[in-house]
Amino acid sequence: LKESGRYERVQSLGKGAFGFVQLGRKLQNNELAAIKFLKRGDVNKYVESEILNHSMLRHPHVIQFKEVFLTADYICIAMEYATGGSLFSYVQSQARLKEAVARWFFQQLVIGVDYCHKRGVANRDIKLENTLLQKVDGLPLPLLKICDFGYSKADMRSAAKSKVGTLTYMAPEVLVNRDGKYDGKVADIWSCGVMLYVMFYGRYPFEVPAGAAMPKATEILSMLDNMVRQKYELPAKVEVSEPGKDLLKKMLLPDPKERITLEDVMKHPWFTTNLPPEA
Ligand code: ADP
Ligand code: MG
Ligand code: MG
Repeated sequence: LKESGRYERVQSLGKGAFGFVQLGRKLQNNELAAIKFLKRGDVNKYVESEILNHSMLRHPHVIQFKEVFLTADYICIAMEYATGGSLFSYVQSQARLKEAVARWFFQQLVIGVDYCHKRGVANRDIKLENTLLQKVDGLPLPLLKICDFGYSKADMRSAAKSKVGTLTYMAPEVLVNRDGKYDGKVADIWSCGVMLYVMFYGRYPFEVPAGAAMPKATEILSMLDNMVRQKYELPAKVEVSEPGKDLLKKMLLPDPKERITLEDVMKHPWFTTNLPPEA
């Protein structure tokens, strides 16, 4: 960080699969930024698309990209610093969210994802860990910001083929598909549905048994079978409204052609109550 001569290190913020993230202060203007360090030796198409795609986006519900610079060992992405941690930690600390709180975050998620899609970018790694929170004075709850465009895919390039993302959030058509292609944007809608489920119930709708580092093929197949048969539990001890369950069901439709569109998500009765203020 010093080597760049531009930022001083403040603290560590997190670690992901491909690098680490630190809070830095820009020497020139004292502004704080979250800096994602990606090892230069590992530079591959994902690093390239992370930078290209993230840098095209500007929206209140997307972590703002600031600049990219190099150190001897790393490619560094400087971006807006989210002060409230991840939605994952937030949900974990609450066990699960009340419907009104889930709605507050979900609306912002969908508005942010819809913006990315309209700019031609599918995130392909939508999950609680990749949605960060920004505390804002005067608001009872933090704002949501989508981050991590490491697996993102721009429309203009060929159709999506890679099985990227995170297993528990992966749409069935990403796991298996006939012609090796899927629409990353439609797969994002499934992942948003998984997020809604986790916010409601504090657990995943579809899982492989925990334990081994690599799930067995048979375990993945049985998870896929549940996805295709729409077999997920709606634990009776957690009360979720009928419109809430209806929206979940439409987002977790296994056939990408039948799955609800974001346009219709935004018109759904569960969604349209109490829209959040514009960020
Ligand atoms: P990876 O691609 O390795 O998953 P992420 O971009 O998701 O990396 O960042 C890893 C973690 O670092 C996030 O889950 C979050 O906890 C933290 N983090 C990332 N970006 C920021 C940010 N802009 N502000 C605050 N924390 C961040
Ligand atoms: Mg991540
Ligand atoms: Mg990533």
